[in-house]
Amino acid sequence: MLKSKLGCLLLLVACSLFLVACSQSEGEEVSLTIKDSGYRLSMDKKTGSVVYLGKKENFLIDSNEPLFRIRFRNADGTPQIYTAADAASCTFTKKGKRLTFSYSGFSDRNFQVSVSVTPNKKDGLFHFSMKVDTDDQLEWMEYPCISVKETSSEDEGILWPYNEGAFFSDASKHNYIEPEYPSQGNYGMYPGMVLTPFIAQVTHNGGVYFGAHDPAHNTRQVDFRKTDEGIHLQIRLYPGMEKGSYASSDETVLGCFEGNWYAAADIYRNYFDIHHEGFVRLEENKSLPKWYFEPYTVLTYCVRGHHDMDEMSPNKLFPYVNAIPIIEDFSKQTGAPIMALLMHWEGSAPWAPPYVWPPYGGEEALKEFVNRMHDIGGEVGVYCSGLGWTQKSNLIDYDKSQDFVEGHLEKYMCLAPDGSLPLSRICTYQRSGYDLCPSTEFTKNTLLEEMKKIRSSGVAYIQMMDQNHGGTPYMCYSHEHGHPAVPGKWESEAANELYEQVLKDNPGLVLGCESAAAEPFIPKLLFSDNRCGLNFNGGQPVPLYSYIYHEYVTNFMGNNVCGDMFIDCRKTPEIFQYRLAYSFLAGDFLTIVINDEGIIQWAWGQRDFSPEYRPDHEASLSLIKVLTEWRKACPEYLQCGRTLHPLVFECGTSQIFTSTGPVNVPDVLTTSYEHNGKALHFLVNWRNTEIKVHSSAFVGKEYTFHPNGEKIKCQSKDIVLPPLSVIAMY
Ligand SMILES: [Zn+2]
Repeated sequence: MLKSKLGCLLLLVACSLFLVACSQSEGEEVSLTIKDSGYRLSMDKKTGSVVYLGKKENFLIDSNEPLFRIRFRNADGTPQIYTAADAASCTFTKKGKRLTFSYSGFSDRNFQVSVSVTPNKKDGLFHFSMKVDTDDQLEWMEYPCISVKETSSEDEGILWPYNEGAFFSDASKHNYIEPEYPSQGNYGMYPGMVLTPFIAQVTHNGGVYFGAHDPAHNTRQVDFRKTDEGIHLQIRLYPGMEKGSYASSDETVLGCFEGNWYAAADIYRNYFDIHHEGFVRLEENKSLPKWYFEPYTVLTYCVRGHHDMDEMSPNKLFPYVNAIPIIEDFSKQTGAPIMALLMHWEGSAPWAPPYVWPPYGGEEALKEFVNRMHDIGGEVGVYCSGLGWTQKSNLIDYDKSQDFVEGHLEKYMCLAPDGSLPLSRICTYQRSGYDLCPSTEFTKNTLLEEMKKIRSSGVAYIQMMDQNHGGTPYMCYSHEHGHPAVPGKWESEAANELYEQVLKDNPGLVLGCESAAAEPFIPKLLFSDNRCGLNFNGGQPVPLYSYIYHEYVTNFMGNNVCGDMFIDCRKTPEIFQYRLAYSFLAGDFLTIVINDEGIIQWAWGQRDFSPEYRPDHEASLSLIKVLTEWRKACPEYLQCGRTLHPLVFECGTSQIFTSTGPVNVPDVLTTSYEHNGKALHFLVNWRNTEIKVHSSAFVGKEYTFHPNGEKIKCQSKDIVLPPLSVIAMY
């Protein structure tokens, strides 16, 4: 009797902990379910692999990926990867709704890993955490490892918050790059070119959402890879800690949704709406200058040479004031005040950081230009080149090797894991040099001094972090700089300290970076070079960034560098008009790249200057004029509004001919904004022909073709938009 009671008691204890040796339950699964939605997550009891995610069907492929991968750095800097499959022992416990898989018995290294997952009723997601007990140097932890099935339709695919939002309907067109030292700007790193830490797959039957809801903004790789079996969705956390153990919180989330990419974006936006410490709504942001809220168009050009690898003799736009008549003409034809955004203006060498001052031609020449610009209601901005050290320019005779040696400046450069100092991979055509570590006083002081000097000329905007996409510094593994000897959030914290000091030193100055600023940098980098065209490199742009952050930041359309490499502009002659419409609807300042004749170019850096290879000058200016009228009339929506899901309607499509094949885009682009409880929907016909849009939802709605025009009540399901026109629908 006593014996059986004891037996029951032991059974109860075992049930409450649900302690099961995985090796005794091969092939079985353990599941968690989100109560309200019914979405289920199942894991293999023996291995911990995530084997099922979904409700009616499994979104994951049957790949039995290990639950985690982990990379250590050995004392000599060599990397060593382990996975869950390398553990001699795996056990799992279930405590309430929390599943924990524990792994031990790895060869050649003494460490233990546990990964926990729990369903969260509030956000409807499964939350994962990972703990590593070790004395060694961790570099990154990937968990959970999952792969989804391939899709086949144009409107299915991977949503990736890269650049400003990219959608890949064919994952095989994505060129996955493994992030390794020395850094490249185009890695799928957050913060970096990945601006928001999640990735999603959209299918006709629902989608998979995989992200990090992490107020600490830890460094992560957020990327995807086409494999033989499916598409691997990859989030790696870089803890950025000194040697030893690390435990993440429950911030890695996995779940499902129904709908298109906006539904995935809503999951992140719902999180961001609560967690946005340090963000100030533009309407309430008193630190911003007046020009930021006016309908400027950015006019960007170089004053030396004609492209980024040209001979650097001054062109027709130098001295700087030579550009004034051209600028006045653009302003007159578009009705927009102009910000001239200068390239190749540095007195050191083009794109040759960190030293830029004095400007080419001297301080007085630039000051005179700034003053003349102010006289005509314009502003001046300059491109810089981020946290780089230029040893030698490849464009002109400029050499800082002696300073480097005499000042022992190698002490301040980002180092490789083995302690070596190889040349940087950034802007190698323009310069050879190294990456500056953001943590060192030398880096901070040098940048602070240069920014003060530039600001003294009256320049309104500095793209201080060009080349540092998203505003993020490069990886540093130095043991001598006082930071952990692996990448991590110490890097973005150091960068944010630098930005904060620059802004304190120079009140009213606005800073920016290449691509839009990644989330942790947005409050400090409030005007950045946001070029949607780059996402045609394998995918197509979607206004994801604007959808999440629009109320807090305004960017500009960017110089579209490399844009004509990815798009066949001869076969897609209206692409510039498409980009204008797209950026207008994203709330960005419009941007024109010109040559030194004042002729509009497809992209900065293009090499083909033949007369037939250029956007339609008249059509482009006509569209900018129309868009500027709307920017003047509706800033509360276009600049400060909260983005809504857009109207759904039918219209024709056009092909954008890209380097990876044609992509279909709508002839009429649309975005909806809400302000003070009122919604306004914008539709833009970017084509040179009239386009009909069709929706039963139009009937009874009011719309207008002009900001001060008559409101027309829609009597039918069709509206015809004239060429290069906008309608606003109430
Ligand atoms: Zn460092």
